[in-house]
Amino acid sequence: MVAAWSTVSGTHPLVLVVEDEAPIAELIRGALVREGFTARVCGDGSGALEAVRRDRPAVVVLDVGLPGLAGTEVCRRMREEGDWTPVLFVTARDEEVDRVLGLELGADDYVTKPFSPRELVARVRAVLRRGGAVAEQPTLSVGQLVLDPATRRASAAGIAVELTTTEFELLAHLMHRPGRVHTREELLAQVWGYPAGTPTRTVDVHVAQVRSKIGTAARLRTVRGVGYAVEPG
Ligand code: CA
Repeated sequence: MVAAWSTVSGTHPLVLVVEDEAPIAELIRGALVREGFTARVCGDGSGALEAVRRDRPAVVVLDVGLPGLAGTEVCRRMREEGDWTPVLFVTARDEEVDRVLGLELGADDYVTKPFSPRELVARVRAVLRRGGAVAEQPTLSVGQLVLDPATRRASAAGIAVELTTTEFELLAHLMHRPGRVHTREELLAQVWGYPAGTPTRTVDVHVAQVRSKIGTAARLRTVRGVGYAVEPG
């Protein structure tokens, strides 16, 4: 989409800074802005997931030690949703580095505290350079259904399908692990960002819409009382 692309190719790429310690967040934000980036700060993991979905940053600078949802969990959920926005982890201890890298979260780089703002900005630049990062997102395919997260295009049996952002995110989330049953609660939390227990039929409604669009290219299987899985048609 245009908005997603502009954050990568524009002159002021958006960096989402996820850091609960306000003085450190402000230090990072200030350094990024001085170097020509646009920076937004978020102090917790859940908010970070929402901001990533909403703002489509070019890079996420992600503190590991966050209250509530840890930085590692934020990254894991992003990847599960098929979001391969580059993530630069900020860790407080060397032991965390091993953990972050060992978890195979698709971390793009990391810096350890204390770091100089200059060093951090250099790392952000490096991650962006390496990037075309958006273009490196793997294409998802199940049966004859193909989703390309880099271009946000979808096709069913070779024919282009117009999907809303939410429909695209829903399918990408399911297609990242074909055959796995995703509960409604999980989908609501990870695609919509709703808190647990939100009474809504929005998942079912969207699944029905997606089914009508993709036809028999792939099958969105209902697991009664549980949720949904995507399988070859
Ligand atoms: Ca912290």
